[in-house]
Amino acid sequence: MAKFSQCFACEHSRIESLAGISEPIQAPTEILRTADSSHGLVADEAASLFAAARDPDRKDEIQLAANQVRARWAPPSVEFIIPVYLTSFCQNECLYCGYRHSNPIAERVHLSLEDFNTQLDLILSWGYRQIELVLSDDPEFGPERVARYVAATRRKLEALGGGVVALCSPVYQQEDYVRLREVGLDWVVEWQETYHRSHFDRWHFAGSAKRDYESRLDLWDRAIAAGITRIGMGVLLGLYDFRYDALAVIEHGNYLRRTYGIEPYALGIPRLKPARGVLASQKPNRFSVSDEDFRLVVSVYHLAFPTSRLFFNTRESYDLNMSLVAAGDLFTVDCETLPGAYLRRHLPGQFSTHDYPPRKEVRATFERRGLAGKYLAEEMPCEIARTTPAAGTAIDEKRWASEHAQLRARLQDWEMALERLSMNGSQPLERQAADASLREILEYLKTVLTTHCREEESELFPAFCEDAEASPKLACFRADHERFGVDLDKLERQMASYGLSKDPTVLLTLGARMIREMRAHLEAEEQLLPSTRRRAVG
Ligand code: SF4
Repeated sequence: MAKFSQCFACEHSRIESLAGISEPIQAPTEILRTADSSHGLVADEAASLFAAARDPDRKDEIQLAANQVRARWAPPSVEFIIPVYLTSFCQNECLYCGYRHSNPIAERVHLSLEDFNTQLDLILSWGYRQIELVLSDDPEFGPERVARYVAATRRKLEALGGGVVALCSPVYQQEDYVRLREVGLDWVVEWQETYHRSHFDRWHFAGSAKRDYESRLDLWDRAIAAGITRIGMGVLLGLYDFRYDALAVIEHGNYLRRTYGIEPYALGIPRLKPARGVLASQKPNRFSVSDEDFRLVVSVYHLAFPTSRLFFNTRESYDLNMSLVAAGDLFTVDCETLPGAYLRRHLPGQFSTHDYPPRKEVRATFERRGLAGKYLAEEMPCEIARTTPAAGTAIDEKRWASEHAQLRARLQDWEMALERLSMNGSQPLERQAADASLREILEYLKTVLTTHCREEESELFPAFCEDAEASPKLACFRADHERFGVDLDKLERQMASYGLSKDPTVLLTLGARMIREMRAHLEAEEQLLPSTRRRAVG
């Protein structure tokens, strides 16, 4: 049997042309009537809706029609789901991701089975009965190990009367999915990221299996052959033209309908968001998707797959998601993307997320709209609590002062290296010496500075988290740490480009700014230490 990669190789140009049309090929009213018959849409019809929506007034009409279709064909409920991360180590280099291998400020955690079980007990006590296990491409977390976490989740859910286990992992082989299904996996979540081949290659320029575009395209053929028929598909919006990628998803969904008689179980709508220390995710690119276009994609997916669940996630604000979610969708309220973070609360992870109102309040809002909340039982008492750090926890001030002193000394070395470069940049020997110092300092910052920032966040910050006066400062420090990570990325690129051009202008400007900001940051942090505050008061 042909696989999707072979079909798509023939269809890619057609999808590309459809994404570019500026006038509908077919009348939108006719298409909306077709969608209302529950058969969904094919890519050509969806392309006409995208073309019609180039007139902004048509977007409301499309969303209204989409909501009507959902109200007619999807169940009057919204399903709650919670992601549970297992590892943040990754061998890949996806340019948009906070867990990419080379991100020096990413916190790396393997969640042991014991800690996983403890955390899962807490999550189940909140009422969740649909659990999405999530992991990066970590060689120490192969499918066999993942199967143990799936089995543990299944056992705990069954003990509570049942539930659903989903998995978002690196793509596996057919036999792996057979094994995972046998131990209790219900459905698989996987985004193609982008269907556009050359942009896929650009975003995934290094790493391992993730770079295999065809293997990713054929994932659903393998999963279905393994007996997994609940398919959670989609793209990461913002990596390429959203119309092209949404049409490719619709093409792929129709391939599943035609070939296997399967409707996608869920459709992902993740949109590219800033990730700590990852330059490419921080700034808008030419494919950034506006809120209005995001709304359009949601409506077109609702129409194209009238019974599939759109997977709303906390990358988006609560208000935006609430304005778009419809009958039959999936909704995330709690989302910690660092493994184990539900036990600790609000630690930065793979990408930035929004805070949502409490679960009960969200469910009540759905109920007022006539939508029952599924897979969220009543909360039950649980002895496990999130660790709330004790206010005023003792701080090893000497340690932090000594690390700050070492960092200051290196900032001074850096300043001198930049000065040498600016004064004697044309003399080869001087330049070589300055280059060597800069490389050494960069390495030092990527290792020692980033470890220092991470440890400070996880050990020093909790001591102040209950201190109302300190909280805005802590938020600024955390933002500074994030900026340092991005700046180090920039610095590394500038070192490479200076190596080619021999023009140090950008390197000098960037270096001077970073040194200035890091000094100000160290000083501000020291103002927070109890002894400094006491001195200030005294
Ligand atoms: S997107 Fe996944 S595979 Fe890529 S770097 Fe992030 S965690 Fe790793």
